[in-house]
Amino acid sequence: MRFNMGVRVAFAIIVLLLFGVYLYVHVADGPFSMNLDGANNEDSSAPVEDAARPETEGETANAEETASEPEPTPPPTVDPNSPEGRAAALGLPKPPDIDINSWEYLMANPDHSIEEYEPPHTHYKTAGMPDNIMSNQWGDGLRFDERICDAMTDFITAAGNEGFSVYLSSGYRSYNDQVANFNRKLNEGMTPDAAKKIVAVPGTSEHQTGLACDITDRYYERKDSSLENTELYKWMYDHCAEYGFILRYPKDKEDITQIIYEPWHFRYVGVEAATYMKENNLCFEEFYALYVDESQGA
Ligand SMILES: [Zn+2]
Repeated sequence: MRFNMGVRVAFAIIVLLLFGVYLYVHVADGPFSMNLDGANNEDSSAPVEDAARPETEGETANAEETASEPEPTPPPTVDPNSPEGRAAALGLPKPPDIDINSWEYLMANPDHSIEEYEPPHTHYKTAGMPDNIMSNQWGDGLRFDERICDAMTDFITAAGNEGFSVYLSSGYRSYNDQVANFNRKLNEGMTPDAAKKIVAVPGTSEHQTGLACDITDRYYERKDSSLENTELYKWMYDHCAEYGFILRYPKDKEDITQIIYEPWHFRYVGVEAATYMKENNLCFEEFYALYVDESQGA
């Protein structure tokens, strides 16, 4: 609506200007000549008027039109408090037009508890997939938010087709699972502060979103930074965004994520967001901050 109004106003201005040109060209010698001259150019004097007149009609009209062109197109302005504005302030391109409150962007971290949130989850089986794709589906059970199962299958099947031995563990973990994990550490004699460094406080583990999975080489399951040397990891990292996944805890972002580098933990955010984050070297917290200004929040 606003755009249409703007176009109409601009059109009306152009029509009026053209009419003015017409009057200037055709009626300059008539009774309107003095009025027009005064309206168009306050400083104009008779000699200037005389000098301009010998020009052809076409040239005069073009000059008038060109001069009036910039007026109807004001420079575009970006709200500094919009995602685009915040990105621009950081020298980043326009971020995707998304609803940050949608399920794909659910944030669970030490500063964001999702309390007892439970996604619509389902058991995920790798049985029936190529032999080089395995999971702990019969052990702890592998579960995901059911909305990412297809993307996960595409992701790991592509890796399997490259010849990698893929092993999935730790998908969805419920709030109560996390309570049990945490209490186990306390029962082992740890202080709560010490336990927090190893096990996420219930409500703050990303595994509780159902959108994350630990993916390791089946023959190299060590979950430490050395995993980055496996060919599987290199392929997963290079291609994850194509399937809507990000490496959630990158090496160079530990101070922002507050979680150690985990070259095994992938998380779904959708292709659009994953691609933007990868292209601009942003971790999820940095991406999220483009949409949610926490300094103005609670
Ligand atoms: Zn994990």
